[in-house]
Amino acid sequence: MGPPDNPEARRAELNALLMTRRRETESRYRQALEQQQSGAAAGDSEGVHGWKASREGGAEVAVLEALDQTLRQIDAALARLHAGRYGLCAACGEPIPLPRLRAVPFATHCVACQTGQENRGAKR
Ligand SMILES: [Zn+2]
Repeated sequence: MGPPDNPEARRAELNALLMTRRRETESRYRQALEQQQSGAAAGDSEGVHGWKASREGGAEVAVLEALDQTLRQIDAALARLHAGRYGLCAACGEPIPLPRLRAVPFATHCVACQTGQENRGAKR
């Protein structure tokens, strides 16, 4: 019965989507932090398998930074959602389709505009 383009339902789903993503990212962040700290405490010994197998020593820091940035993006998306602006394309103002937001929760552009951007930005 209820069509999926009901703005309230869309908002509720987007909120759930972002909150789930936030919890996941947060727990990954905590894990990465623990890994990093235990690695530092163990003095780079082989206690941390796989994790340390990266070529660059700063890999954990990069992971933490990436996760931290993701958390910020999610928070910004939640703030936009509460302001009623989340999920609208920043370029053309069209609602970004839910499947796209499920895949990329903090997408700020619809596929058409994003593709146009990428084509302009990175030419091969
Ligand atoms: Zn657009």
